[in-house]
Amino acid sequence: MRRERPPSESPVTSRPQKKMWRNSVPSSSVCYDSLAHWPEIVDERQRCKFCAKYAYTFVKCLKCNMHLCLAKGKNCFKTYNSNA
Ligand SMILES: [Zn+2]
Ligand SMILES: [Zn+2]
Repeated sequence: MRRERPPSESPVTSRPQKKMWRNSVPSSSVCYDSLAHWPEIVDERQRCKFCAKYAYTFVKCLKCNMHLCLAKGKNCFKTYNSNA
């Protein structure tokens, strides 16, 4: 059985643009954005990139790819990601 591919497959041009940012969006978009910042416990302990001088942490933000404190009373993860 022969398979013939079409000679020129036209690229899909109708895909949505994901990098559009608007100023006047409902507040739910903030939740949508923050969903991508997930903490992960990694094997290697590194300095927190937010308060780098003080703390070592196993917690890493998957989106930022940065180590950030995430502990009781000290949440650089939240602080950093809400400022970014
Ligand atoms: Zn992040
Ligand atoms: Zn920190």
